[in-house]
Amino acid sequence: MTVYFVDGQFVEKEHVSISIDDRGYYFGDGVYEVIKVYDGELYTSEEHIARLFESAAKIKLAIPYSEAQLIEMAKQLVVSNSISVGHVYMQVTRGVAPRVHQFPTPAVAPMFTAYALDGARPTEEMQKGVKVKSVEDFRWLRCDIKSLNLLANVMAKQEAVESGCKEAVFVRDGYVTEGASTNLFGVKDGVLYTHPANNFILNGITRQVVLRLSRELGVAVREEPFTLEAALVMDELFMTSTTLEVMPIIQLDDKMVGSGRPGEITLQLQKAFASQISTVVAGA
Ligand code: PMP
Repeated sequence: MTVYFVDGQFVEKEHVSISIDDRGYYFGDGVYEVIKVYDGELYTSEEHIARLFESAAKIKLAIPYSEAQLIEMAKQLVVSNSISVGHVYMQVTRGVAPRVHQFPTPAVAPMFTAYALDGARPTEEMQKGVKVKSVEDFRWLRCDIKSLNLLANVMAKQEAVESGCKEAVFVRDGYVTEGASTNLFGVKDGVLYTHPANNFILNGITRQVVLRLSRELGVAVREEPFTLEAALVMDELFMTSTTLEVMPIIQLDDKMVGSGRPGEITLQLQKAFASQISTVVAGA
């Protein structure tokens, strides 16, 4: 039995029904979050929930629950669905109303839905590394919002997958911004580079953890944009996300990264991330 959270209720999946007039369906008018579950425990849930509220505020959407209520709801989904390793997905839309672009008047209640799913850590890929493909960043200019409107990301990811790659790397005006659903990092001469957190990228929670771990490990960090040309000659490349953790990149377009194997600093960060998960879980 799969239990979903829909509009304030826990419901079996078979009984979930969502209106065709939901603005998420028509416009992608809403925001979302994904929280990883390790050993039955939510990982960095407060950071994810805080970002959900930030994204919602940026599109002038008021979430009808408190942060504590949402964490409680997510925990209940994990328990009800007996999730050990997996994730909780949640989204909130501007609600159900006849289709007009402007916000509904009178205002309608937002529609909040969530579920929990099993999903193993991608350990094999984390050991071997993956290939990525550069694509033009043709997204809008508010990539800092975790919007449901993911058409550009969908198109980019599909293009990458069709070329046998794991991820698409967005390039805007010659500069690498981020992946279709990941943040990008490069290492050159021992220095870690990643795009600064501004309107051109989503400020990943994993990105923030990795930046903290890098500083703790004494790795020099520069949050500054780098070009695709620079990326192609980095010693190491990796990407981060809630589900991919610290994922080594061994090929960018037709160019092998470094020695074609996961880099040293990448592996160090991967290890630091893993031990940090077990500490969090053990200490929870
Ligand atoms: N950038 C984009 C565009 C994403 O969709 C994601 C995944 N949600 C990320 C970066 C990584 O963010 P996080 O580490 O919070 O999962």
